[in-house]
Amino acid sequence: MTVLHLKDFYALSWKNDNHSQKIEIFSMDNQVKKSYRWSVVAIALCLGAAFQGCSQPPAPKTQEKLDITVSILPQKYFVERIGGENVNVNVMVQPGDSPHTYEPKPQQLRSLAEAEAYLSIGVSFEKAWMDRLKAANPKMPIIDTTQGMKLLPMVAHHHGEGGHEHEDEHDETGHKGEEKAAEKLKENLDPHVWLSPQRVKIQAQTIYQTLVELDPENQAQYQAALDEFLADIEQLDAEIRQSLAGIQQRKFMVFHPSWGYFADDYGLEMISIEEGGQEPSAAELAQLISQAKAENIRVIFVQPEFSTKSAETIAQEINGEVIAINPLMSNWLEEMQRVTQKFARVLRENSALDIPLIMANSRLLASDELVLR
Ligand SMILES: [Zn+2]
Repeated sequence: MTVLHLKDFYALSWKNDNHSQKIEIFSMDNQVKKSYRWSVVAIALCLGAAFQGCSQPPAPKTQEKLDITVSILPQKYFVERIGGENVNVNVMVQPGDSPHTYEPKPQQLRSLAEAEAYLSIGVSFEKAWMDRLKAANPKMPIIDTTQGMKLLPMVAHHHGEGGHEHEDEHDETGHKGEEKAAEKLKENLDPHVWLSPQRVKIQAQTIYQTLVELDPENQAQYQAALDEFLADIEQLDAEIRQSLAGIQQRKFMVFHPSWGYFADDYGLEMISIEEGGQEPSAAELAQLISQAKAENIRVIFVQPEFSTKSAETIAQEINGEVIAINPLMSNWLEEMQRVTQKFARVLRENSALDIPLIMANSRLLASDELVLR
């Protein structure tokens, strides 16, 4: 055993059945690393200043808690709102990882063996890993929390392949092209349902039903928590509507199209920069710059999991601003309120600038067409 790694571990000591003292070293994610008999070495370590966790070992997990596994952090918030003290929620996609490209770690798959239910939400990694998630715990029910929701296709931006104006695209690609596109969109439903308060209400019901099925004894408690959560969502919804009321300019640009359902709920229009998770090509970037200027867009939202390079390029060209908003938030209600304030401020500023910018833009746009195309 080395002292060097101890910052990442904590230890528990106790008397075992035959009354001999034992010490177990855990990593911070509760995985047992090594079991030691209580020894001079352990005592020495425990007294050592480097051994931070020793004085206050975490409370051992109680057996009664329901172990629920979810894919992303906002779901943890939802389950905890309804399950309260009765649930222990594991999250697969850790902060900084993208649910689109995430791969579960072997240790996470092993810990699934203890899960009483998996609450899926339709993010890409679930589809790719579903067989292995099932294999890790064949008895574990996998609940689709998007059931009962109106799902929409992933918003794709409308870059014409030849660099033509997007308004013309439908005429030029024709009916056949549209049909093909519709087919493609069907398998490409937007997974970002947790950013729509209306859809979170539906999801909350499903989580409630799941918890009641697993633990009927605490039904009344779950019902009370659900009602309180639904009331909070109603209030959030009213706040969002109020913040966005009267704003004329309702378009915004975002690198990764996470806010499609939010836009759908509140009559906003999202313009996505990325194309299938990739940075746009030089031609697409030029198109986006023209579009941002034409639409009078001054702010581009980005999120921590994705590159900000193209967003910064566009912002520079339109003399705009890049703002980071995190859709994989852990405190959902608070973050939704903060994000709404950002949206409202940005859109209100754009609305105020409408008239002078449209005049300047028509001139700028004309010269840009020559340079960029
Ligand atoms: Zn996403």
